[in-house]
Amino acid sequence: MENCIFCSIAKKQSPATVEYEDGEMIAFWDVEPKATVHILVVPKKHIASLTELKEEDAPLMGKMIAIAKKLAEEKGIAEEGYRICINAGKHSGQVVDHIHFHLLGGQKLGSMI
Ligand code: 5GP
Ligand code: ZN
Repeated sequence: MENCIFCSIAKKQSPATVEYEDGEMIAFWDVEPKATVHILVVPKKHIASLTELKEEDAPLMGKMIAIAKKLAEEKGIAEEGYRICINAGKHSGQVVDHIHFHLLGGQKLGSMI
């Protein structure tokens, strides 16, 4: 997708601190971390938002959760607890129109909103 920063990172056309990668997924540090650990888990397939998600993409979402869980364990935040969240649309504050999970942890997190 043109002008999509996460597609660009997935294609190695833009830099990022990558923590995990395979054929269909990439995970990298958020450029402006909002917690001690803030990693974005991103499918390489361009899906603009959760609202655009199709039923056939469900296995991809399952894989994203598994990767986020694995990264939480690797970063040593699993025992104390962490959060995975998805922003979808304007009210949520979504700014990058390419679906992604935020993996947040390493400190006590604030309330949901
Ligand atoms: P959203 O609000 O869309 O759910 O979150 C997008 C996240 O992507 C934000 O936390 C923002 O800091 C991060 N972000 C935006 N541009 C870049 C970038 O070029 N590189 C990285 N690593 N993160 C980015
Ligand atoms: Zn994209």
